[in-house]
Amino acid sequence: MATLDIKNIRKRYGELDVLKGIDLSLTDGEFLVLLGPSGCGKSTLLNMIAGLDMITDGEIRVDGRVINTVHPKDRNIAMVFQSYALYPNMTVAQNMAFSLKLRGVSVAERQEAVAQVADLLQIGHLLDRKPARLSGGQRQRVAMGRALVRNPSIFLFDEPLSNLDAKLRIEMRTEIKKLHERLGTTVVYVTHDQIEAMTLATRIAVMKDGAVQQFADPQTIYEQPENLFVADFIGSPPMNFIPALVVSGSSGPELLLQGDERQIRLPLNHHGRPGQLVDRKSVVLGIRPEHVTKTEEGPGPADRMIVEGRVDVIEPTGAETLVVFRLGGVDVTAKARPKDVVHKGALNKFAIDMSAIHLFDKETGRRL
Ligand code: ADP
Ligand code: MG
Repeated sequence: MATLDIKNIRKRYGELDVLKGIDLSLTDGEFLVLLGPSGCGKSTLLNMIAGLDMITDGEIRVDGRVINTVHPKDRNIAMVFQSYALYPNMTVAQNMAFSLKLRGVSVAERQEAVAQVADLLQIGHLLDRKPARLSGGQRQRVAMGRALVRNPSIFLFDEPLSNLDAKLRIEMRTEIKKLHERLGTTVVYVTHDQIEAMTLATRIAVMKDGAVQQFADPQTIYEQPENLFVADFIGSPPMNFIPALVVSGSSGPELLLQGDERQIRLPLNHHGRPGQLVDRKSVVLGIRPEHVTKTEEGPGPADRMIVEGRVDVIEPTGAETLVVFRLGGVDVTAKARPKDVVHKGALNKFAIDMSAIHLFDKETGRRL
């Protein structure tokens, strides 16, 4: 177990600025998820922590000690790769014991460590097999087992579930969560899957183009995204974005939806930071689909604004039905209940929960 402090980490490959000054601090036992689209620098940052590549600038501390120049094998950090990187000609047991063997651990101790971890991961019956005779999920477990036997103070995972099919991915996600709760080891976990991030993390660092966009616990990231990028990246189906103009109404500022000839106005009495809502400011209104519902449900009348829009698409998923309708010149997705009556190709009424809306500066993308 360990604390991890990442201070102003930069990485340059020639002319390319891959990491542009990353600052992150983890307390002991945290589960940090680095989340972002492909190419944003997640693996690069993980490799810096593991010591697999040189840092251009900045400092990484584990338990307060700077490890920038410490050799990877002396960092007491274990990594699980996306490809698993198992040795094909070794058995599962040999794969798992290999790093201990390199460190000169005795045969008896190696066997004990392997047996213990195999028990934990329920792969005891696979110890004599070669990787070629394992399923994807089993290989994944062995790769984790190989990292676990070292009893590392920090665990690094680089997209460990991305090679598994959807069902197995969810199962293994739960396993990893259980494992973390049981062992309490500090974890840094890379993924581009926002559900994985939300379900596993104690804190998420959302990354884009080599910079952290927001670093917070999952709930805060979901409920108070710092900017349009984070708001758009987290949530499925994604948040709805409607261009709007701040105008003054009879009882305070209102939003005038753009791109809609019907001059739809929504009151802003719920918004927490009215000082930023200068008249005629161009903003983006963000509403998550679960906050747009059929009129019968939703919040009390004071928080509920009724809007009308033509329904183009109805997508039943079983538990809920996604309804896409036109509002403010864009497609807006609502979450309806399967039993709600929706008329396709016609105008339907929807309720927007105004207490749950988000506003972003149109120019900077920052949350208002
Ligand atoms: P992610 O893991 O988020 O998908 P990476 O960290 O692998 O992203 O890569 C970030 C960027 O750095 C990419 O543009 C990639 O092409 C570049 N990059 C990664 N490794 C190298 C390298 N060894 N040399 C040059 N560019 C690299
Ligand atoms: Mg990567």
